[in-house]
Amino acid sequence: MHEFIAENIQVIQQRIDEACKANRRDPREVKLLLATKTVPAERIEIALQTGQTLIAENKVQELKDKFEYLNAVPHVNHFIGHLQTNKIKDLLKCNVSCIHSIDRIDLAEKLHQRLLKQDKSMEVLIQVNTSFEESKYGAAPEEVIGLVQQIATLSTLKIKGLMTIGILSAEAEQVRACFQLLKHIQRQIIALAIPGVSMQELSMGMSGDLEIAIAEGATIVRVGTAIFGRRPTPDSYYWNENL
Ligand SMILES: *Cc1c(COP(=O)(O)O)cnc(C)c1O
Repeated sequence: MHEFIAENIQVIQQRIDEACKANRRDPREVKLLLATKTVPAERIEIALQTGQTLIAENKVQELKDKFEYLNAVPHVNHFIGHLQTNKIKDLLKCNVSCIHSIDRIDLAEKLHQRLLKQDKSMEVLIQVNTSFEESKYGAAPEEVIGLVQQIATLSTLKIKGLMTIGILSAEAEQVRACFQLLKHIQRQIIALAIPGVSMQELSMGMSGDLEIAIAEGATIVRVGTAIFGRRPTPDSYYWNENL
């Protein structure tokens, strides 16, 4: 697979550019984030050598395992996986600049306490369950505004926007409905003009649905499979607590 990584990134960049063009958007508004779960550090390095800078892991242990190796290569770490409160301490050792998966107040509060002690701050996105699937993480859509208002009072957390995982469906319109819902919530929050809360980022769209996400306003697309190939572990391992 090694030799295909650079080509695959080019293809993805083209898909992003074309989707932007089709929707009269500036491609510079859409950042490509490499979803690197299960990908060995050596292969991530190849992707970074093509000029990509933004990578994200789903599990703290996996991030830790690759951290030392990748530390030598310039890049920015995001975190996109379900975060357990007992992993916050380790996560903060890994130089992560944005967490996309804040979905409950107790997690936000524990993160805040830890950051306070370290005199640090963190950019966060609020993860929303827009597909109403039990198996997916994320705050319920009707809870998001209240959650944002509460998190806005935590001085170390800088809310930058929202994140969602679209429904895994062959029906483009069902996927689109997820992204439209996220955009709708974003608009509602912007209208509230909550002090300290920015809603500039919409992290949505993956290998299979990034065009739909860009059409609906994505500013960050998270792409794994289309760049690194199929993963050995099913996504349920990352997305479902019960497995
Ligand atoms: C794995 C993952 C992605 C990337 O999915 P692909 O379909 O492989 O592009 C995006 N977001 C999250 C949260 C993920 O866990």
